[in-house]
Amino acid sequence: MPPLDADTLLMVIAVFDAVACVVWLLLGQALRIAPRAARLISAHHGLLALSWWPGLTGSLEISVALPLSILASGLLTAGVRGLMRARCPLGDIAAIVGISLLAAALSYPNLAAARVVDNVSGALLTVMAARDIAIGAGFGLLLTGTLLLPYAVLAGVCLWRAAELLGWLPPALALSGMADNAPLSLLRLVVNLTIATGLVALVLQRLIARVRHLTRRDALTGLLNRRALEEQLARLQAQVDRGRGHALVVLDVDHFKRINDELGHAGGDAALQHLSTVIGETLRDTDAFGRIGGEEFAVLLPDTDIAGATLVAERLRRLLQERPLDWDDKTWPLSASFGVATMRREDLQGRGALARADAAMYAAKARGRNRVLRSADEAEFA
Ligand code: GH3
Ligand code: MG
Ligand code: MG
Repeated sequence: MPPLDADTLLMVIAVFDAVACVVWLLLGQALRIAPRAARLISAHHGLLALSWWPGLTGSLEISVALPLSILASGLLTAGVRGLMRARCPLGDIAAIVGISLLAAALSYPNLAAARVVDNVSGALLTVMAARDIAIGAGFGLLLTGTLLLPYAVLAGVCLWRAAELLGWLPPALALSGMADNAPLSLLRLVVNLTIATGLVALVLQRLIARVRHLTRRDALTGLLNRRALEEQLARLQAQVDRGRGHALVVLDVDHFKRINDELGHAGGDAALQHLSTVIGETLRDTDAFGRIGGEEFAVLLPDTDIAGATLVAERLRRLLQERPLDWDDKTWPLSASFGVATMRREDLQGRGALARADAAMYAAKARGRNRVLRSADEAEFA
């Protein structure tokens, strides 16, 4: 078998990047998966495909291939940042790309100097992408390390080539000439493939996170839904069985039907969203706030006794009363009835506590609404 020559390998890289360009475009546009990041990554592969085209040597390298390669590195870093959902602006990336393009243009017609610029900016942008992945990927150490490996190799090779071009390292590995260096082209192909596979893994993880979010959240308010609350209750019940003390509060909006009748269904929905914002703002991060159904909500309060939970419920009741709903140029008073209960060892998956808090909430309704009542079972312990 004849040895693979560098030109063939460069062609393979270019074809691979061209295919990746189309695939990312489809992922982003047709399937609406991380569309902005997908567009950036698609453009990255597109430009890379052009810059690797074997014909772009000689004067075309400095005037076309190197600027394309600098732009492609910037697009990859921007795409990775988009995938990581870091909402930070892309100004730093744009600045590095801009300065590098300017430096490459100023070094014309010195090809070695332009290659140094390409490699230094490539290394910098690759390290920035790796940093965003390290911070945002949310994988374990091993998987994150595997994802980062090709970035480390790429940045290392770029710096090595720059040092060689500057004469700081002996050209022992002959890394400086890419077009006629088959091992280097092969390494670049492997790095490209592993980076592309890693990006697919990041998108899949994002998709899984989105599905998980959708199955655990209430569509109207964005709060935890009943299923997620029950999961959380079961987790807390396991801790109660080991001796910890948790409490929960159930609340139901008073005369909600009137709100729907007076303001319409959209007004009723706005009232539910308003309530979730008002109450959600005041709770601790460790508390779990969710919508059980209709206009009934629950707050799980870890490591809280009945006295503490009653104080929380009373605070929530007053807060809701003080923050009426503004809707359609009208101000509509809101109130709710609250039931409070603690979790007990004999409860099954926390359902007992939920039932006791619910019963207390209905007792609060019967006593005239807009009040907090402890479960009847708590009174004997209080
Ligand atoms: P009470 O003080 O006894 O709780 O009176 P209420 O009118 O709040 O009680 P009831 O449970 O009888 O009525 C709840 C109403 O909530 C009935 C239902 O149409 C309405 N509802 C349930 N889910 C939604 C929703 O998602 N959006 C809107 N707008 N209304 C809802
Ligand atoms: Mg109600
Ligand atoms: Mg109700």
